[in-house]
Amino acid sequence: MNLHEYQARALLKSAGIPMPDGDVASTPSEAESIARRIGGPVVVKAQVHSGGRGKAGGVKLAQNPGEAADCASRILGMTIKGLVVHRVLVVPAADIASESYVGIIMDRATQQPVFMVSSAGGIDIEEVAAKTPEKIVRLPVDPVYGLLPHQALTLAFALYQEFPQVRAAARIMDQLYRVFADNGASLAEINPLVTTPDQRVLALDAKVAIDDNELDRRPDLALLRDETAEEPSEVTARRANLSFIKLDGNVGCVVNGAGLAMATMDLVKYYGGDPANFLDIGGSSNPDKVISALKIITSDPNVKAILFNIFGGITRTDDVANGIVAATRQFQVKVPIVIRLTGTNEAAALNILEGVGMRALSDMDEAVEQVVRLAREAA
Ligand code: GDP
Ligand code: MN
Repeated sequence: MNLHEYQARALLKSAGIPMPDGDVASTPSEAESIARRIGGPVVVKAQVHSGGRGKAGGVKLAQNPGEAADCASRILGMTIKGLVVHRVLVVPAADIASESYVGIIMDRATQQPVFMVSSAGGIDIEEVAAKTPEKIVRLPVDPVYGLLPHQALTLAFALYQEFPQVRAAARIMDQLYRVFADNGASLAEINPLVTTPDQRVLALDAKVAIDDNELDRRPDLALLRDETAEEPSEVTARRANLSFIKLDGNVGCVVNGAGLAMATMDLVKYYGGDPANFLDIGGSSNPDKVISALKIITSDPNVKAILFNIFGGITRTDDVANGIVAATRQFQVKVPIVIRLTGTNEAAALNILEGVGMRALSDMDEAVEQVVRLAREAA
């Protein structure tokens, strides 16, 4: 789950990381009054779950409250990487002498958090990583011990030479690691971490993503979810208790069980197709789940054909068949559906489907090959 910058800032600040005090506005006049309270120049920043706001015109400098209102009215409602801006953050503008990058990610390959720091910070860290990877210093952290003091210093020395700044940065490394570890984050990032002409080290931007698996034991963090900032189909799926991830292909997939869902996507690829989603309707599938699943998948205009791949164990295939029939009665499905279904209550399921003129296959390869062909013909 991604947090907004203003939410991530609150976590960083409570860990003691120095950041200018700011506030969030959803109208230009609110932005104006925050700027008046701050006094002096401010930065008005779009709050969306996306990097690259600076480049997209979502970060603007305002000299006075009137200009702040003006910037806010231009940024609010703007679309950045497909996301509409509903709020802006207004913060005092800092004087910048240098910009660095500091980030921690969970590295799945080594199964450890990894620090990445670079003195080539600021806007385009992805470009630095692609073109001059030697400018990024990486340091894995053993989660049992946490970030050790000498490691924090090593990271700080990778950014600065002057002792006051090194000391300040080492502290920030330690604090950022605590934010990461204490909140079950999968990512915690400061870009830019800046130095000011008067030798201070400040965080000017904050990005934190919380591992979804952490949210059940941290209701305080779960409350930070902003559904208006998320992919609508994923929101609907979560509410219907479906594990769903939207992808870019054109073959919609409805599968029971995460392993079978993965194998199904592999097979779609194998036969030359592209899955439009990952979807696991779960073990005990009642017909309602199937209806929700079909609604979500058919609302994606890229989907040209839909595959049901159901291996009935705990899942009753007649439940799934009833769901398919109920869904196609409730709303018109305009793309072809290929059904592969086998296992518990299979005979009953086939009867239900035949009753409305639908067929089901029992072979998985045959079904996948067919759905890939239908999707290709329709595209
Ligand atoms: P991002 O592009 O979405 O990562 O947004 P950032 O918050 O990182 O802002 C982008 C850039 O705007 C930064 O790299 C800075 O160069 C600039 N910027 C942000 N805040 C300030 C500020 O307080 N003062 C000045 N002078 N520039 C700022
Ligand atoms: Mn940034």
